Amino acid sequence: MKLGVFKLVHEANSFALDRCDQNMFAEGQWTRGYGAVKNEENSNTELGAVLAFLENHTEWEATFFRLASASPCGDITNACFSAVRDELVADIKAGAWDALYLCLHGAATVEGGRSAELELLRAIRADFPDLPIGVSFDMHANLAPEIAQLVTIAAGYKTHPHIDMRNVAAKVLRLVVSTARGDIRPTGAIVKLPLLLPSANMRTTDGPMREVVSYAALVEQQEGALDITVYGGFPYSDCTMSGACCMVYTDNDTALAYRLARDVAGKLWSLKEQFFVPLPSTREALQSIANATRYPIAIADNADNPGSGGIADTPSQLRAILDAELAIPAAFCFLVDPELVERCHKAGIGARFQARLGGRLTSLYGPPVEREVEVVRLVEDCSFKNEGPQDTGASSSYGPTAVVKCGNIEIVVVTIRHSVSDPGFYRVNGIDFSKIRLLGVKAKNHFRAAFSSVFAEIIAVDEPGPAAYDFTTLPFTHVPDHFYPMNPGATFSVEKVT
Ligand SMILES: [Zn+2]
Repeated sequence: MKLGVFKLVHEANSFALDRCDQNMFAEGQWTRGYGAVKNEENSNTELGAVLAFLENHTEWEATFFRLASASPCGDITNACFSAVRDELVADIKAGAWDALYLCLHGAATVEGGRSAELELLRAIRADFPDLPIGVSFDMHANLAPEIAQLVTIAAGYKTHPHIDMRNVAAKVLRLVVSTARGDIRPTGAIVKLPLLLPSANMRTTDGPMREVVSYAALVEQQEGALDITVYGGFPYSDCTMSGACCMVYTDNDTALAYRLARDVAGKLWSLKEQFFVPLPSTREALQSIANATRYPIAIADNADNPGSGGIADTPSQLRAILDAELAIPAAFCFLVDPELVERCHKAGIGARFQARLGGRLTSLYGPPVEREVEVVRLVEDCSFKNEGPQDTGASSSYGPTAVVKCGNIEIVVVTIRHSVSDPGFYRVNGIDFSKIRLLGVKAKNHFRAAFSSVFAEIIAVDEPGPAAYDFTTLPFTHVPDHFYPMNPGATFSVEKVT
């Protein structure tokens, strides 16, 4: 039995400064073939699930087509997307397959507000109408309803922070294999809501998403239901398919799939206001912890979180922390500035110089912070295998890095931009949470997967940035204007769903 495996993971922030092309993928993952994935065997990732599946199902052999993953940035360029799509279709045509497994994000918008996932699936189905296709999606997918029919079976993450990628992929593989054997006949439905949700309060550990996901798990126990996934969507992706939805697969019962999807979507709709919580600024957060007795405390700038398309360059949080002239030891993670890293490495440890911090890529979010800094640590190659619960065992690389000190604050500067949600990043750069009292970090919820038990408090803040909390002010072109919250009077009518 032959399985074709493909991966395209990109969460597009259409308001980012850049576009996503092959060079951006090259900084994440841009590979083909088994040799490129064999070291992910024990990782808590989708590909880790594929490798485990192959080990336990020796009658199956897999061919790994393109495997592409980028740190969230702008829309995928037309040229890059066309090349990926055409290569995938050619790969499928070049062999005979019993099933495909696709690891997709679901918010990989292509220039012009197009859904990469929808167009990929349409392109495959045009030539292979009956091929069993199993897909795993991120919880922040923006899914077109048509996808439920294009795909044989799909499921998405049930956790945020995401720590169940491997489990979800294993479930998809199990179901697509059952389909290929003729044991089940999955039938899907996606019920879309006219709703853009911020993810700041979308954790499944607490708050409204926990309630919705728990409800979906209960409903999933209904006989005939194979999977129910609630998708919060990704609001910074300006796509005609943006927005929250519920996707249900049943065993050959279309009416049941729609009924359950409407039911769970209605639950999400009823709680939508609870996702919109006020976030303080960094200055306000610093004032609120002035008399704190328990440390360390993290202040997470959601607006420049690389996991949401942040550029790791906005200066306002760093400025607020430096202006506060803290008497406590603190760290700031992080800035992407390859030239500053190189300057530090040339100058050496102990060197002092006047530096421009942040505001390098654009002045949109404020001017650079100018301060004298001292080089305190240098890392030739900040690479490691993830040590935390998210993507455990997967490789991360930030290139050469440097740590500079300004007053009581150590500032980490890196060459390659990725999220800084894994403990390995702090270990390699010498940031010891038992020695600092405050961490300013460009991060959001995924940071909590590894660190909610390390910090006495993690405070989400909003600053100017490409993933600013109040997305209603962004110049959307493709998201329908009747969506909540841009239209506070938006309505969701289950009767409209057919
Ligand atoms: Zn996500």
